[in-house]
Amino acid sequence: MKKLLSIVVPCFNEEPALKSFYEVVDKVSREMLELDFEFVFVDDGSRDGTLKEIEKLREGDKRVKFVSFSRNFGKEAALLAGLDYANGDYVATMDADLQDPPALLPEMYEAIKDGEYDCVATRRVTREGEPPIRSFFARIFYRLINKMSKIEMVDGARDYRLMTRQMVDAIISMREYNRYSKGLFSFVGFKTKWIEFQNVQRVAGETHWSFWKLFVYAIDGICAFSTVPLVIAAVLGLIFCMLAFILIVVIIVKTLLYGDPVGGWPSTICVILMVGGIQLLALGIIGEYLAKTYLETKHRPIYIIKSTEKDK
Ligand code: UDP
Ligand code: MG
Repeated sequence: MKKLLSIVVPCFNEEPALKSFYEVVDKVSREMLELDFEFVFVDDGSRDGTLKEIEKLREGDKRVKFVSFSRNFGKEAALLAGLDYANGDYVATMDADLQDPPALLPEMYEAIKDGEYDCVATRRVTREGEPPIRSFFARIFYRLINKMSKIEMVDGARDYRLMTRQMVDAIISMREYNRYSKGLFSFVGFKTKWIEFQNVQRVAGETHWSFWKLFVYAIDGICAFSTVPLVIAAVLGLIFCMLAFILIVVIIVKTLLYGDPVGGWPSTICVILMVGGIQLLALGIIGEYLAKTYLETKHRPIYIIKSTEKDK
């Protein structure tokens, strides 16, 4: 019997891109004769005609399945839902905008099919067409998070992967609320082969990531896979305690030797401001972790499904 490959596609307002996406992947699927294909589109609460477009594809091709959310839950939730819903012996996750070239699929499958690798991941080696400031901060982020976390995050890694069933099961067994896929993929281990490609522009529509969203996502990533910021807060506290201790000794000695002329008001204010600032920073860091813990303990569902192809 042929093995089944599931293509998991998170879609948020992707109406203009979906048709060309389907056509390109469909063409690839006809070249990969060893495999049966299924498409799992996850409509992440799109406000345009994405769902209609998916239903249209379903009418023409019964290999198309979909999950539609009750609202926008974000790409991470959409990816999880897709992985939950996919039945394949192999599962590939890719974006709907053709920024993850489907033409790589045969090459990826070659690497995984004899069981030498459990996962084939892709990274883009260029960031062409991206605002330079965004690339700059991305690079800083990867350098930071790799210093702070034992889990390795690859710069330029896409969420475009082909995985075995075993690895998919490992991923979906992790039901954490604050999902940071790049970290989760790395956390589960397994043998991963990396394939590199040049950056591709999206075919239609526009990116959903504003600078602010990416910034928040970066903080989420760091909190999810590192507790080093907490250590930094503690170390800052320690340094300031030591400084204070030294200063106290110096002042006592100075007062004993030279008496106590009044003065130093501006410097006192500066010290108060700085120490206050550092306290707030440390509190903020702790608060960030506490907030994440709070959300996790609520055990809210990561996504809520409104409909699937079975409802039709
Ligand atoms: N996406 C999603 N939910 C969101 C935002 C994005 O499912 O809230 C999907 C989107 O439809 C696309 C993929 O995630 O298939 C990547 O989004 P995008 O292309 O905007 O990101 P970029 O490639 O610019 O990083
Ligand atoms: Mg994209």
